[in-house]
Amino acid sequence: MEPLITVRNLKMHYPIKKVDSFTKYDLLKAVDGISFDLFEGETLGLVGESGCGKSTTRKLLLNVEPPTSGEVCYRGDNIYEMDPTALKEYRRNVQAVYQDPYSSLNPKWKVLKLVSEPLIIHKIGNRKSREEKVRELLSLVGLREQYIDSFAHEFSGGQRQRISIARALALDPQVIIADEPVSALDVSIQAQVINLFKDLKDRLNLTYIFISHDLNVVKHISDRVAVMYLGKIVEIASGDNLFDYPKHPYTKALIKSIPVADPEEKTAAAVLRGEIPSPIDPPPGCAFHTRCPEIMDKCRVISPDMINLSVGHQVACHLYTGDNKNV
Ligand code: SF4
Repeated sequence: MEPLITVRNLKMHYPIKKVDSFTKYDLLKAVDGISFDLFEGETLGLVGESGCGKSTTRKLLLNVEPPTSGEVCYRGDNIYEMDPTALKEYRRNVQAVYQDPYSSLNPKWKVLKLVSEPLIIHKIGNRKSREEKVRELLSLVGLREQYIDSFAHEFSGGQRQRISIARALALDPQVIIADEPVSALDVSIQAQVINLFKDLKDRLNLTYIFISHDLNVVKHISDRVAVMYLGKIVEIASGDNLFDYPKHPYTKALIKSIPVADPEEKTAAAVLRGEIPSPIDPPPGCAFHTRCPEIMDKCRVISPDMINLSVGHQVACHLYTGDNKNV
Protein backbone atom coordinates (compact mmCIF):
# COMPACT_ATOMS: atom_id res chain seq x y z
CA MET A 1 0.00 0.00 0.00
CA GLU A 2 1.30 3.46 -0.93
CA PRO A 3 1.63 5.78 2.07
CA LEU A 4 -0.70 8.77 2.29
CA ILE A 5 2.12 10.89 3.70
CA THR A 6 5.85 10.22 3.49
CA VAL A 7 8.33 12.14 5.63
CA ARG A 8 11.95 11.92 4.57
CA ASN A 9 14.99 13.19 6.48
CA LEU A 10 13.04 16.17 7.80
CA LYS A 11 15.05 18.73 9.76
CA MET A 12 14.15 21.96 11.50
CA HIS A 13 17.16 23.77 12.94
CA TYR A 14 16.48 27.19 14.46
CA PRO A 15 19.36 29.69 14.73
CA ILE A 16 19.62 30.96 18.32
CA LYS A 17 21.85 33.92 19.20
CA LYS A 18 24.78 32.92 21.40
CA VAL A 19 24.48 34.44 24.86
CA ASP A 20 27.98 35.99 24.69
CA SER A 21 27.89 37.22 21.08
CA PHE A 22 25.82 39.60 18.92
CA THR A 23 26.80 37.98 15.66
CA LYS A 24 27.26 34.25 16.33
CA TYR A 25 24.46 31.73 16.41
CA ASP A 26 23.92 28.25 17.77
CA LEU A 27 21.51 25.84 16.15
CA LEU A 28 18.57 24.48 18.07
CA LYS A 29 17.95 21.13 16.42
CA ALA A 30 14.23 20.79 17.15
CA VAL A 31 13.75 18.11 14.48
CA ASP A 32 16.90 16.41 13.26
CA GLY A 33 16.35 14.08 10.32
CA ILE A 34 13.15 12.13 10.90
CA SER A 35 11.60 9.75 8.36
CA PHE A 36 8.34 7.83 8.52
CA ASP A 37 5.30 6.86 6.49
CA LEU A 38 1.65 7.43 7.33
CA PHE A 39 -0.76 4.93 5.80
CA GLU A 40 -4.39 5.60 5.02
CA GLY A 41 -6.74 4.59 7.83
CA GLU A 42 -4.09 4.13 10.52
CA THR A 43 -3.35 5.98 13.74
CA LEU A 44 0.33 6.73 14.17
CA GLY A 45 1.25 7.74 17.72
CA LEU A 46 4.18 10.11 18.17
CA VAL A 47 5.56 10.02 21.72
CA GLY A 48 8.43 11.44 23.70
CA GLU A 49 9.18 13.81 26.56
CA SER A 50 8.43 17.51 26.35
CA GLY A 51 10.95 19.23 24.05
CA CYS A 52 11.71 16.16 21.90
CA GLY A 53 10.40 17.80 18.70
CA LYS A 54 6.86 16.43 18.53
CA SER A 55 5.12 19.78 18.16
CA THR A 56 7.70 21.10 15.69
CA THR A 57 6.98 17.97 13.64
CA ARG A 58 3.28 18.89 13.75
CA LYS A 59 4.05 22.41 12.48
CA LEU A 60 6.18 21.04 9.64
CA LEU A 61 3.47 18.55 8.64
CA LEU A 62 0.93 21.38 8.53
CA ASN A 63 3.38 23.50 6.49
CA VAL A 64 3.15 26.32 9.02
CA GLU A 65 6.82 26.95 8.33
CA PRO A 66 9.28 25.51 5.82
CA PRO A 67 11.84 23.00 7.13
CA THR A 68 15.59 23.46 7.13
CA SER A 69 15.75 20.44 4.82
CA GLY A 70 13.94 17.26 3.94
CA GLU A 71 10.51 16.66 2.48
CA VAL A 72 6.94 15.79 3.34
CA CYS A 73 4.94 14.30 0.48
CA TYR A 74 1.15 13.99 0.43
CA ARG A 75 0.02 11.41 -2.14
CA GLY A 76 3.44 11.79 -3.76
CA ASP A 77 3.58 15.60 -3.94
CA ASN A 78 6.07 17.56 -1.83
CA ILE A 79 3.97 19.93 0.29
CA TYR A 80 6.76 22.53 0.40
CA GLU A 81 6.74 22.80 -3.42
CA MET A 82 2.97 22.98 -3.90
CA ASP A 83 1.41 25.92 -5.71
CA PRO A 84 -1.15 27.94 -3.69
CA THR A 85 -4.12 25.98 -5.07
CA ALA A 86 -2.60 22.58 -4.25
CA LEU A 87 -1.48 23.82 -0.83
CA LYS A 88 -5.01 25.05 -0.05
CA GLU A 89 -6.34 21.62 -0.97
CA TYR A 90 -3.68 19.97 1.21
CA ARG A 91 -4.67 22.19 4.14
CA ARG A 92 -8.28 21.23 3.59
CA ASN A 93 -7.35 17.55 3.72
CA VAL A 94 -5.00 17.73 6.71
CA GLN A 95 -6.51 19.36 9.80
CA ALA A 96 -5.31 19.75 13.38
CA VAL A 97 -6.72 19.48 16.89
CA TYR A 98 -4.68 21.24 19.57
CA GLN A 99 -3.93 20.69 23.22
CA ASP A 100 -5.75 23.52 24.87
CA PRO A 101 -9.40 23.95 23.87
CA TYR A 102 -9.51 27.08 26.07
CA SER A 103 -7.02 29.04 23.97
CA SER A 104 -7.73 27.45 20.57
CA LEU A 105 -11.39 28.59 20.57
CA ASN A 106 -12.32 32.27 20.74
CA PRO A 107 -14.49 32.49 23.89
CA LYS A 108 -16.51 35.38 22.41
CA TRP A 109 -17.62 33.43 19.36
CA LYS A 110 -20.72 31.29 19.18
CA VAL A 111 -20.37 27.64 18.23
CA LEU A 112 -21.91 28.33 14.81
CA LYS A 113 -19.12 30.76 13.94
CA LEU A 114 -16.37 28.64 15.50
CA VAL A 115 -17.26 25.48 13.62
CA SER A 116 -18.28 27.09 10.31
CA GLU A 117 -15.25 29.40 10.03
CA PRO A 118 -13.18 26.87 7.98
CA LEU A 119 -16.11 26.57 5.54
CA ILE A 120 -16.27 30.37 5.22
CA ILE A 121 -12.49 30.62 4.66
CA HIS A 122 -12.68 27.95 1.94
CA LYS A 123 -15.82 29.58 0.46
CA ILE A 124 -17.89 26.42 0.85
CA GLY A 125 -21.70 26.57 0.87
CA ASN A 126 -24.04 29.37 1.89
CA ARG A 127 -25.27 30.49 5.29
CA LYS A 128 -28.04 27.89 5.42
CA SER A 129 -25.96 24.92 4.25
CA ARG A 130 -23.16 25.86 6.63
CA GLU A 131 -25.56 25.96 9.55
CA GLU A 132 -26.90 22.53 8.58
CA LYS A 133 -23.34 21.22 8.39
CA VAL A 134 -22.53 22.60 11.85
CA ARG A 135 -25.61 20.90 13.31
CA GLU A 136 -24.51 17.60 11.72
CA LEU A 137 -21.00 18.01 13.10
CA LEU A 138 -22.24 18.78 16.61
CA SER A 139 -24.31 15.62 16.57
CA LEU A 140 -21.30 13.66 15.24
CA VAL A 141 -19.10 14.74 18.15
CA GLY A 142 -21.80 14.07 20.76
CA LEU A 143 -23.04 17.63 21.40
CA ARG A 144 -26.63 18.82 21.27
CA GLU A 145 -27.57 20.82 18.19
CA GLN A 146 -29.05 23.58 20.33
CA TYR A 147 -25.54 24.44 21.52
CA ILE A 148 -25.05 26.09 18.11
CA ASP A 149 -25.97 29.49 19.64
CA SER A 150 -23.86 29.12 22.79
CA PHE A 151 -20.52 30.81 23.38
CA ALA A 152 -17.31 28.79 23.80
CA HIS A 153 -16.83 30.07 27.34
CA GLU A 154 -20.06 28.37 28.40
CA PHE A 155 -18.61 24.89 27.88
CA SER A 156 -16.49 22.52 29.95
CA GLY A 157 -13.02 21.48 28.76
CA GLY A 158 -14.27 18.19 27.33
CA GLN A 159 -17.12 19.91 25.49
CA ARG A 160 -14.74 22.51 24.10
CA GLN A 161 -12.47 19.79 22.78
CA ARG A 162 -15.50 18.24 21.08
CA ILE A 163 -16.18 21.64 19.45
CA SER A 164 -12.51 21.76 18.33
CA ILE A 165 -12.91 18.32 16.78
CA ALA A 166 -16.13 19.39 15.02
CA ARG A 167 -14.28 22.41 13.63
CA ALA A 168 -11.43 20.20 12.41
CA LEU A 169 -13.96 17.94 10.66
CA ALA A 170 -15.84 20.78 8.96
CA LEU A 171 -13.86 20.46 5.72
CA ASP A 172 -14.18 16.65 5.55
CA PRO A 173 -10.43 16.08 5.96
CA GLN A 174 -8.63 12.80 5.42
CA VAL A 175 -5.97 13.31 8.08
CA ILE A 176 -6.21 14.76 11.59
CA ILE A 177 -3.03 15.71 13.42
CA ALA A 178 -3.97 15.75 17.09
CA ASP A 179 -1.31 17.41 19.26
CA GLU A 180 -1.75 16.47 22.94
CA PRO A 181 -5.54 16.61 22.45
CA VAL A 182 -6.44 15.24 25.87
CA SER A 183 -3.58 16.36 28.10
CA ALA A 184 -5.44 19.51 29.26
CA LEU A 185 -8.52 17.50 30.24
CA ASP A 186 -9.47 15.79 33.48
CA VAL A 187 -8.50 12.12 33.52
CA SER A 188 -12.18 11.17 33.72
CA ILE A 189 -12.89 13.07 30.48
CA GLN A 190 -9.77 11.89 28.62
CA ALA A 191 -11.15 8.39 27.97
CA GLN A 192 -14.40 9.84 26.55
CA VAL A 193 -12.51 12.06 24.09
CA ILE A 194 -10.15 9.22 23.07
CA ASN A 195 -13.19 7.01 22.44
CA LEU A 196 -14.68 9.80 20.35
CA PHE A 197 -11.50 9.95 18.23
CA LYS A 198 -11.68 6.16 17.74
CA ASP A 199 -15.35 6.24 16.84
CA LEU A 200 -14.90 9.09 14.34
CA LYS A 201 -11.96 7.31 12.71
CA ASP A 202 -14.11 4.27 11.99
CA ARG A 203 -17.16 6.25 10.88
CA LEU A 204 -15.33 8.73 8.66
CA ASN A 205 -12.36 6.56 7.58
CA LEU A 206 -9.92 9.09 9.02
CA THR A 207 -6.17 8.80 9.38
CA TYR A 208 -4.55 10.16 12.55
CA ILE A 209 -1.20 11.33 13.77
CA PHE A 210 -1.71 11.34 17.52
CA ILE A 211 0.98 13.30 19.38
CA SER A 212 1.34 12.83 23.13
CA HIS A 213 3.88 12.67 25.93
CA ASP A 214 1.58 10.13 27.62
CA LEU A 215 2.24 6.55 26.54
CA ASN A 216 -0.91 5.37 28.22
CA VAL A 217 -2.97 7.59 25.93
CA VAL A 218 -1.02 6.58 22.83
CA LYS A 219 -1.31 2.89 23.73
CA HIS A 220 -5.08 3.08 23.67
CA ILE A 221 -5.43 4.64 20.24
CA SER A 222 -2.39 3.87 18.06
CA ASP A 223 -1.88 1.19 15.41
CA ARG A 224 1.82 2.12 15.19
CA VAL A 225 3.99 4.23 17.46
CA ALA A 226 7.09 6.34 16.76
CA VAL A 227 9.24 7.31 19.75
CA MET A 228 11.14 10.61 19.54
CA TYR A 229 14.16 11.71 21.55
CA LEU A 230 15.97 15.03 21.00
CA GLY A 231 14.59 15.60 17.50
CA LYS A 232 15.08 12.06 16.20
CA ILE A 233 12.88 8.99 15.93
CA VAL A 234 14.64 6.24 17.91
CA GLU A 235 12.10 3.44 17.50
CA ILE A 236 9.01 2.80 15.42
CA ALA A 237 6.82 -0.29 15.55
CA SER A 238 3.26 -1.55 15.72
CA GLY A 239 1.61 -0.68 19.02
CA ASP A 240 1.62 -4.33 20.13
CA ASN A 241 5.30 -4.83 19.28
CA LEU A 242 6.37 -1.58 20.88
CA PHE A 243 4.59 -2.10 24.17
CA ASP A 244 5.20 -5.88 24.45
CA TYR A 245 8.73 -6.01 23.00
CA PRO A 246 10.35 -2.55 23.27
CA LYS A 247 13.95 -2.51 22.05
CA HIS A 248 15.39 0.96 22.53
CA PRO A 249 16.48 1.67 26.13
CA TYR A 250 14.57 4.98 25.98
CA THR A 251 11.35 3.25 24.91
CA LYS A 252 11.81 0.73 27.71
CA ALA A 253 12.19 3.56 30.23
CA LEU A 254 9.11 5.37 28.92
CA ILE A 255 7.06 2.19 29.21
CA LYS A 256 8.29 1.61 32.75
CA SER A 257 7.16 5.15 33.55
CA ILE A 258 3.51 4.40 32.72
CA PRO A 259 1.72 4.77 36.06
CA VAL A 260 0.75 1.44 37.59
CA ALA A 261 -1.28 0.53 40.65
CA ASP A 262 1.79 -0.91 42.44
CA PRO A 263 3.66 1.97 44.16
CA GLU A 264 6.76 -0.26 44.41
CA GLU A 265 7.16 -0.13 40.62
CA LYS A 266 9.99 2.08 39.42
CA THR A 267 9.13 5.38 37.74
CA ALA A 268 10.85 6.93 34.73
CA ALA A 269 12.85 9.17 37.05
CA ALA A 270 14.24 6.05 38.70
CA VAL A 271 14.96 4.40 35.35
CA LEU A 272 16.41 7.38 33.48
CA ARG A 273 19.54 9.11 34.73
CA GLY A 274 19.81 12.89 34.55
CA GLU A 275 17.92 15.52 32.59
CA ILE A 276 17.09 15.55 28.90
CA PRO A 277 20.04 17.39 27.23
CA SER A 278 19.57 20.68 25.39
CA PRO A 279 18.73 20.40 21.67
CA ILE A 280 21.12 23.37 21.20
CA ASP A 281 24.07 21.22 22.17
CA PRO A 282 22.97 17.60 21.89
CA PRO A 283 25.45 14.94 23.02
CA PRO A 284 27.71 13.47 20.30
CA GLY A 285 27.19 9.89 19.18
CA CYS A 286 23.87 8.52 20.39
CA ALA A 287 21.99 11.51 21.84
CA PHE A 288 20.57 9.22 24.55
CA HIS A 289 23.98 8.05 25.79
CA THR A 290 24.09 10.48 28.75
CA ARG A 291 21.06 8.73 30.28
CA CYS A 292 21.28 5.22 28.89
CA PRO A 293 21.62 2.33 31.36
CA GLU A 294 23.08 0.13 28.59
CA ILE A 295 25.72 2.55 27.23
CA MET A 296 28.80 1.17 25.42
CA ASP A 297 31.99 3.00 24.43
CA LYS A 298 30.99 3.56 20.82
CA CYS A 299 27.69 5.12 21.88
CA ARG A 300 29.62 8.24 22.91
CA VAL A 301 31.04 8.82 19.43
CA ILE A 302 28.97 7.06 16.77
CA SER A 303 25.37 7.98 16.07
CA PRO A 304 23.35 4.78 15.50
CA ASP A 305 21.51 4.38 12.20
CA MET A 306 17.90 3.28 12.08
CA ILE A 307 17.81 -0.44 11.27
CA ASN A 308 15.01 -2.92 10.54
CA LEU A 309 14.59 -5.54 13.27
CA SER A 310 11.52 -7.16 11.76
CA VAL A 311 8.73 -6.13 9.42
CA GLY A 312 7.61 -2.69 10.54
CA HIS A 313 9.89 -2.59 13.61
CA GLN A 314 12.83 -0.20 13.35
CA VAL A 315 15.24 0.97 16.03
CA ALA A 316 18.29 3.27 16.20
CA CYS A 317 20.57 1.68 18.82
CA HIS A 318 24.01 0.03 18.74
CA LEU A 319 22.67 -2.85 20.84
CA TYR A 320 21.18 -4.30 17.68
CA THR A 321 24.04 -3.85 15.21
CA GLY A 322 27.32 -5.65 14.48
CA ASP A 323 28.82 -7.71 17.32
CA ASN A 324 26.19 -6.42 19.74
CA LYS A 325 23.31 -7.89 17.79
CA ASN A 326 20.79 -8.60 20.48
CA VAL A 327 17.48 -8.90 18.71
FE1 SF4 B 1 22.03 3.26 24.74
FE2 SF4 B 1 24.07 3.05 23.07
FE3 SF4 B 1 21.66 2.24 22.32
FE4 SF4 B 1 22.20 4.82 22.57
S1 SF4 B 1 23.10 3.42 21.10
S2 SF4 B 1 20.40 3.79 23.32
S3 SF4 B 1 23.57 4.83 24.34
S4 SF4 B 1 22.92 1.38 23.96
